[in-house]
This record gives sequence, structure tokens and C-alpha cells, in this order.
Amino acid sequence: MPELPEVETIRRTLQTKILHRPIQGIKVSYKKVLQSCTEQEFGQALQDREFIRLERRGKYLIWALDSGDRVVIHLRMTGQLVVVPTGYPREKHTSLQIYMYGDEELRLIDQRKFATVYLLHEPGYGSIKGLSSLGKEPLDEGFTPTYLAREVLNRTAPIKSFLLDQRRIAGLGNIYADESLHRAGILPNRSAGSLGKVEIERLCSSIKEVIQEGIAHRGTTFRNYVDGDGRKGGFQELLRVYGREGEPCGMCGEPIHRIKLSGRSSYYCPHCQN
Ligand SMILES: [Zn+2]
Repeated sequence: MPELPEVETIRRTLQTKILHRPIQGIKVSYKKVLQSCTEQEFGQALQDREFIRLERRGKYLIWALDSGDRVVIHLRMTGQLVVVPTGYPREKHTSLQIYMYGDEELRLIDQRKFATVYLLHEPGYGSIKGLSSLGKEPLDEGFTPTYLAREVLNRTAPIKSFLLDQRRIAGLGNIYADESLHRAGILPNRSAGSLGKVEIERLCSSIKEVIQEGIAHRGTTFRNYVDGDGRKGGFQELLRVYGREGEPCGMCGEPIHRIKLSGRSSYYCPHCQN
């Protein structure tokens, strides 16, 4: 699933390709992709309009049209957004196409079909529950050890599950949560509320560090993630634990372990993390 660094990379790569390009029309091939409007309403809202701002919040892309309407996209498990010349051979899993004048189109390709697209007429995110309840962005100034300490207070859930809770921290997923915990030397199944002051400080800076490095390497391609240019990310080469069960830990050489926490795999080094 694309996490913050992947969604941010997609946002950045699409800026040069779709900003200020008048839209000629749309085509919806998978009806359920549209969450809050019909295909006709979506088409009318985009026709002859252009995107004037591409923003991101957590794993959501929020694109402003010159009409004041906004298009919100969540790629979920396998969604990809790529710009191709009009008429380029169409992938089987194409859910949505946005045609721009000048013979190019933006395609949402989604093998698992969980990606969602919303149209917002009104200010705020009220109608999109996951977006309106998001916690702080890890790279925001307000994301500090003090914030983290307040959020974990008295929480008995494993710290790994806490990190995945989008209402606490926006944009972290399985990969960057595991990498952050390894760098901070904290076991994924520790209860969130058991973390001491120094551990919270280490975790806070580890999260910022892995997210920054993830963005700098244009994301992690573990399965099918590509950016808006159709290119794979580079951060998978630098993963220290995620997806590396049985391989030696880069820090100590002991084999990496894997456990299941709330149905998700967690990778960790039992020697470096406690
Ligand atoms: Zn280790």
C-alpha cells in the first residue's frame, strides 16, 4: 500500500504533468471508484476545468480545481496514477481516465479495486471520515515528542498498531512503522503506553528520519508502487527489517524475525529492539 512517501512522490511527479492543464473529459470504467457522486456529476465538475493545486494529507491526495471544487483520491492497496499519451494501450485494471487537452491522460489503474475518488463541493472534509479525523503529519513542526507522549498515554495497544492508527499519525503504514521502530530500538509488540521519555524521543526522530529518507528516494516499491512517471521507488534497497525475515540485521547480524500483530506482519530484530 502506498504510504506517505509514495503518495508524496506521486503528488510531486504529477505536479509537472497535470497542473494548469485544461480537462477535456473523463471516463469511468469501474463505477464504484466514485464515492460521493455519479459519473455524470464528476464529468461535469471536471469538464474544461483545470487543477490549480495538488496537495496531500496523510495518504490522501487533494486536488483543487479552478472552480473551487476538489477531487480527493485514496490509492488504498494497489492504486497507481500515471500520465500517458491518449490512446496508449489500456491496462486491464484501469478504473478512471481524465483526458487533458493536448493528447495526454491521467489514469487510475488499480488491480485490487479498493482505490476511492471523491468530489468535494464544500469546504472542509466533513463527508470523508478518514480524512477529517487524521492525526498530525510526521514532518509537521507540531509532531514532537510531547505530542507523541500525550497520544500514547495509558494506551495498552501494541506500539506498532498505534503507529498505524491514522487518527494519531497521518501517513504511516506497515513499512515505515517497522523501519521506525527498528531505528528507535523498540519492539513492535510493546504496549504504546509503556514507552519511556527517551524511547519516545528516539521514536519521534526515527519516524521523521525514515519518512524524509523515503521521500528522498522516491518511495518504496515492494509490490506494484510506481510514481506519476511510472518509475519505481528506491527506498526498498535501504529497508533494514521490513520484508527481510530470516536475513541478517544490518546493525547486529542476527536474523530478522516476523510476528503478526492485528493481522499484519511486523518485522523486527530481537537483538536490537527491546
Ligand atoms: Zn539487530
